[in-house]
Amino acid sequence: MAVMEARVLGFQFIRELYQHDEDFKHYLYDQDGRRHSPYTLQEGFLFKGNKLCIPKGPIQKLLVKKEHRGGLAGHFGINKTIDMLKEHFFWSKMDGDIYDVIFMCSICQKAKSQFHQGLYTPFPIPNGPWEDVSMDFIVSLPRTQRGKDAIMVKSIMQLMWPIFTSRKLSNFMAYLGALC
Ligand SMILES: [Zn+2]
Repeated sequence: MAVMEARVLGFQFIRELYQHDEDFKHYLYDQDGRRHSPYTLQEGFLFKGNKLCIPKGPIQKLLVKKEHRGGLAGHFGINKTIDMLKEHFFWSKMDGDIYDVIFMCSICQKAKSQFHQGLYTPFPIPNGPWEDVSMDFIVSLPRTQRGKDAIMVKSIMQLMWPIFTSRKLSNFMAYLGALC
């Protein structure tokens, strides 16, 4: 089954690369003398247990990139990418290679820098209560029996107490209009 998968994935060419790979070339021959070896050769594909051995070269990097980018919810973190790759593949120093690829991923770097730019920065502390008040509206709520459909949240910055007031949105709008 694993051999079949390797074929479907278009990995036939890796069979020729094993013989040039320092880690794997020793396992290609002398299979009989290595009864206790965790490596097996099946139709030219080398397996460690049920994991396909990937020889050194661009294919390793390609696999890491593919797995890291994933589908729509891609750009997985290091641990998740390691777990996913190790489920099917093996080569030595996999963790380091995965780390390198993710570290160099331009999309992850960009996302990281945007995240840092957007970090929460504390508000300046006002000198007294009611000096700095912020307001938020939660609107389009299901209408209550009394016809209220919105909540105004006032935060008094020095106390950091939110005050929730429920009203009809139209009332809040009238109130805001009066303030302006
Ligand atoms: Zn990424």
